[in-house]
Amino acid sequence: MDATIMQSITSLIVKLENDFSHFQFVVGDTFYWDGTSQTVWYDPHDPQAQQLVLHEVSHGILKHHTYQKDIELITMERQAWAKAQHLASYYHVSIGDAVIQDTLDTYRTWLHARSTCPACANTGLQTAPSSYHCLACNQKWQVNDAKNCRLIRRRINKKSS
Ligand SMILES: [Zn+2]
Ligand SMILES: [Zn+2]
Repeated sequence: MDATIMQSITSLIVKLENDFSHFQFVVGDTFYWDGTSQTVWYDPHDPQAQQLVLHEVSHGILKHHTYQKDIELITMERQAWAKAQHLASYYHVSIGDAVIQDTLDTYRTWLHARSTCPACANTGLQTAPSSYHCLACNQKWQVNDAKNCRLIRRRINKKSS
């Protein structure tokens, strides 16, 4: 099984390197789009490698780089999956709804944890990349530096392995 996956991801990468010669494709332990170096990192051992690499290429095509508000990250994720579905039909890869919903759910869970008011559990308003404000009880709180695709995807990998 692993050999078949490796073979299909390898041949997909060859096509992508050809079609997106301005991007670099580098083997790593996770899937990640780095807008600064225009690099797609991918893990060829992941059973969903083909789907996930098309998703990361889509971030590149859509020129996703940074975001200010957490909700923008969710929007970027949705857009990247929509684009990845177009690419998938072109490259004859099938992207099931399950992988899309799983990854989006992980982002939604993350967003929910960050935006929930620690004092009254209402949903707060993000006022800066690392600050939230609850309009219901006026509580303010700080969150960690905005996460990127890479960190969140790592968590998914752990869950599914
Ligand atoms: Zn993504
Ligand atoms: Zn509150």
